[in-house]
Amino acid sequence: MEDDEVVIIGAGICGLATALALHRKGIKSVVLEKSDSLRNITGAAIGIWQNGWRALDQLGVADTLRRTAAAIKRDRMVSLDGGRQHDTSIDGEFRSLKRKDLIDTLYAALPPATVKFGCQLESIKIDPNTTKPVLRFIDGSSIMAKVVIGCDGGKSIVANFLNLKATKMFPLCGIRGFTNYRNGHLFDHEFARFRKDNVLVGRIPINGNMVYWFIAQPYVPADKRIWEDPEEIRRTSLEFLSDFPQDVQEMIEYADANSLSFARLRYRAPWDLLTGKFYKGRVVVAGDALHVMGPFLGQGGSAGLEDAVVLARNMAQLGFNRVESGRKVMVHDHEEAFNIFARERRMRVFRLSLQTYLTGMLLGTSSRLKKVIYIVLLVVLFSNTRGHVDYDCGVL
Ligand SMILES: Cc1cc2nc3c(=O)[nH]c(=O)nc-3n(C[C@H](O)[C@H](O)[C@H](O)COP(=O)(O)OP(=O)(O)OC[C@H]3O[C@@H](n4cnc5c(N)ncnc54)[C@H](O)[C@@H]3O)c2cc1C
Repeated sequence: MEDDEVVIIGAGICGLATALALHRKGIKSVVLEKSDSLRNITGAAIGIWQNGWRALDQLGVADTLRRTAAAIKRDRMVSLDGGRQHDTSIDGEFRSLKRKDLIDTLYAALPPATVKFGCQLESIKIDPNTTKPVLRFIDGSSIMAKVVIGCDGGKSIVANFLNLKATKMFPLCGIRGFTNYRNGHLFDHEFARFRKDNVLVGRIPINGNMVYWFIAQPYVPADKRIWEDPEEIRRTSLEFLSDFPQDVQEMIEYADANSLSFARLRYRAPWDLLTGKFYKGRVVVAGDALHVMGPFLGQGGSAGLEDAVVLARNMAQLGFNRVESGRKVMVHDHEEAFNIFARERRMRVFRLSLQTYLTGMLLGTSSRLKKVIYIVLLVVLFSNTRGHVDYDCGVL
């Protein structure tokens, strides 16, 4: 690691996308990741709506990824409480990508050695003489960075440095996995959701054999083994699904054990995004580190891709890749680039987070009064329930 580089913390979707966006604008960066290898297995798959595809187009990887997953054309919501079903066609692009495909493709598009593994950030301090951030790692090493972009996820150290308020927990947990039907599945290419009481199951085919599914269900402090043991995840999920259709239960029974993951659902309060600092001096946050949200709209990952495009565009416009007489020149406008980024992104991530929050709280509460309040707020504030997918992050 060298001093005075553009440093990105975290090689998740947002960190890799940000490095790629910067690379496409001619700005060199280094990504420091705490794991010893690419984290491309956990979380099974990710639904990407058309706003996310626009960002992937700008990153130059959309066509490669389109080849890995079928387009989904219908959205079907089934309420098992009242037997109602609501079908809508999906006009824009929606596909469910295997996380491995997404992460591997972003990584492969980067110059070699952009990502350094086994680098766990411990703390950030500002050097009083140069005003540059000094990053200290748990192995005791430290570097001075030109700027720091915190893409270190929902438990972000960089967000703490910016004094963003602590994240909170939904009363729900998320379980995800794949089921591979060797002889092909018989499901339509639709995004099907089944809801009963406080449990929601989503199912999205990736191709003719493989189906991605997720469950949002009440978080009951579970046997600790659930964090490590896939069979415990399967058993706990099936307990919640005894009243669900047989094909849903079978999907969980036959799921690939290696793909099963369990997560408590965390969010940054939308009102904290309205007031919180997105950057301080040479340090900025993006992705889940800034706006971790529940999975109820399927937008957390896409919002991180949008962040990457907007941030890199502003950094390039403010001269981060300026070359004079064959040499890169120092840039003093980092604060202005981050300021424009914050201005462009604040209302977007606030509205996404608010709609996600209300949707999650509606699913998680048993109180009738609260349900009515959440429904009224959703209807009043988000009458076009899928309006958020029309967002265009613009050209890189
Ligand atoms: C159940 C569930 C379903 C979801 N479904 C969808 C969906 O369908 N569509 C969608 O768009 N989004 C979805 N999301 C949200 C999406 O997964 C996240 O928004 C996205 O993965 C966040 O990416 P990120 O890169 O910002 O953070 P992360 O993926 O958390 O990556 C952070 C990276 O930083 C590293 N790191 C952390 N701390 C440090 C440190 N101190 N030093 C160095 N490295 C560090 C981590 O190891 C990690 O690699 C879902 C989330 C959940 C929980």
